[in-house]
Amino acid sequence: DRADFDTEVTSVCPFCGVGCQVSLKVKDGKVKYVEGINGPANEGRLCVKGRFGFDYIHHPHRLTKPLIRRDDAPAKGLNVDPANWQEFFREATWDEALDRAANGWKALTEKHGGGTVAGFGSAKCSNEEAYLFQKLIRQGFGHNNVDHCTRLCHASSVAALLENVGSGAVTASFNEVEHADVVILIGCNPVENHPVAATYFKQFTKRGGKLIVMDPRGVGLSRFATSMLKFRPGADVSMLNAIMHTIVEEELYDRQYIEAYTENWEAQKAHLANFPPEKMEAFCGIPAATLRQVARDFATAKSGMIFWGMGVSQHIHGTDNSRCLISLALMCGHVGRPGTGLHPLRGQNNVQGASDAGLVPMFLPDYQTVTDDSIRRHFTTLWGSDDFSSEKGLTVTEILDAVHAGQIKGMYILGENPAMSDPDLNHAREALAKLDTLVVQDIFLTETANYADVILPAAAFYEKNGTVTNTNRQVQMGRAAVAPPGEAREDWAITMALANRLGLGWTYSHPREVFAEMKSGMKSLDNITWDRLEHEGAVTYPSLSPQDPGQVIVFGSGFPRDGGRAKFTPASIIAPAELPDADYPMILTTGRQLEHWHTGSMTRRSVVLDAVEPEANCSLHPATLRRLGVEPGGHVRLTTRRGTISLMARADRAVSEDMVFVPFAFVEAAANVLTNPALDPYGKIPEFKFAAVRVERE
Ligand code: SF4
Repeated sequence: DRADFDTEVTSVCPFCGVGCQVSLKVKDGKVKYVEGINGPANEGRLCVKGRFGFDYIHHPHRLTKPLIRRDDAPAKGLNVDPANWQEFFREATWDEALDRAANGWKALTEKHGGGTVAGFGSAKCSNEEAYLFQKLIRQGFGHNNVDHCTRLCHASSVAALLENVGSGAVTASFNEVEHADVVILIGCNPVENHPVAATYFKQFTKRGGKLIVMDPRGVGLSRFATSMLKFRPGADVSMLNAIMHTIVEEELYDRQYIEAYTENWEAQKAHLANFPPEKMEAFCGIPAATLRQVARDFATAKSGMIFWGMGVSQHIHGTDNSRCLISLALMCGHVGRPGTGLHPLRGQNNVQGASDAGLVPMFLPDYQTVTDDSIRRHFTTLWGSDDFSSEKGLTVTEILDAVHAGQIKGMYILGENPAMSDPDLNHAREALAKLDTLVVQDIFLTETANYADVILPAAAFYEKNGTVTNTNRQVQMGRAAVAPPGEAREDWAITMALANRLGLGWTYSHPREVFAEMKSGMKSLDNITWDRLEHEGAVTYPSLSPQDPGQVIVFGSGFPRDGGRAKFTPASIIAPAELPDADYPMILTTGRQLEHWHTGSMTRRSVVLDAVEPEANCSLHPATLRRLGVEPGGHVRLTTRRGTISLMARADRAVSEDMVFVPFAFVEAAANVLTNPALDPYGKIPEFKFAAVRVERE
């Protein structure tokens, strides 16, 4: 009976960056079911994860008490059965666990210096929790070795946007497709990864909009596309430069816009002369005539938008890929007007907000650089603390390398799962096992928690209050609907308890006080207050007045760079870090699938979602399966230079015959055992989207 519930609480879906608003129907202290409500990003819609993926919060595997590793526990490793955790850990009081964590870190810093303890925060926590996490590392340990999963997701996109536009966030919401004539989707698969956003793209095509899809896989929106460019994996720059070459050659660019709002155009124009479509088709696999037609369609449209995902960002040339997309939009004047814009579709529900809050090694809140003395002084005055390092900190993968090198010996990991999410997992897991004091704060005994010395049980998203910021820059209010199980506590309260054991003297009694402090250091939050969010549910930043619901489109009259101009940065072709050869003749690419979220810690404990997609799988072209002698549903073995996994194979014509696609949610066949840790030099993002692989019949 759907009318049979005790209370109804509005909050935000905890999965993807779309940020759908939900109504949680609660009965007897449990969430009974979920409905979409009229949030600015979803207008009542939800996907299968938002609608059915809530029951993990009531799963019997939830952590309910602090745990400490037993003195006689077997060696650290991926060998903890959540049902049989007592062999490895013992229950502890909060005081004992917090003391053990803080004393472990203090012993390391006294002996080796503050730089020996690093932190991974979470894009699954609120803005206030992300802010406090980076504050603890900077104030408590005096350095900037703090990062989170944005490094594995859109770090290269943000690097290119900051460099060329002056802001790392989107220039327009995805809902603006309502006013667009042409939309480019590249390296993203919204039907599976941003499903509610995908409904807006479908509506856009139904009213006659031209949809151009570019992807090495035939992604779900291909069948709605006017043009589908299934380009060679890793060949983004050659394809995009060829399109821009055509726009220059045929003089389709917006001369007035370029003169008024950009710089470095002449260098870009000269560089593009080297990339005629007739020459580039051999690199990218797209016929020159198609490249030219797409160039004309996009450049001559009154309004055009570009959306991209991790197919663009997760390459060693991820920053170059984004530079090309930014240049393409700028040269056509498709920024700052209705129906125009640049939009990297953000992954986690609060990856935008966590990045804005300073959970990155090179920036304080609002992307203010740690190397600037006056900016650091502003924050140390606000925090009442000593100065901290003016050096940019280490990133996610660099931190684990530093563990191997013996420079980092302690870590605080909140809500992240590097034992599943990092590239070259065996290397990452060995690093976690080496740590002297690893403190993991989470809702489940994750693969990463298996390596912990102290495990702190945290509240799930629907058990706490806090603000989150979605892909559209909409700051929204997440609300507690049910109490955390057992002794689990809200993340901000746990971080504060640890900070105070380190002697930092924090006195927050509610996240609203943290939000107020954040506003003192973040201009992006001007005119946005906790009370407004309580009443209005969402405010988009920037908001120009206490009455302004926020600017959906930005940069209509210049850019937040010196001189107010956006910049063209030319990009050249760089080959993937590892190319197929005789031993590893195929191409591995990884990603998500609709039913499972990232490392699967939540969705694989959700009854409906796990029932729909219960088994580790990969996708191969039917011709490849025939060549291997494997029936669809049979098993294959995938091997790269870093490791081997075995899993079920599906027939899928969307992948080309030389490619295998592997979702990364399944611990029993973890895709990242295989992936290449080579980094983009600017965004420091690993090349998850391309590795050389051997595929064999199991
Ligand atoms: Fe949640 Fe994203 Fe699905 Fe919306 S589209 S319900 S935010 S997973």
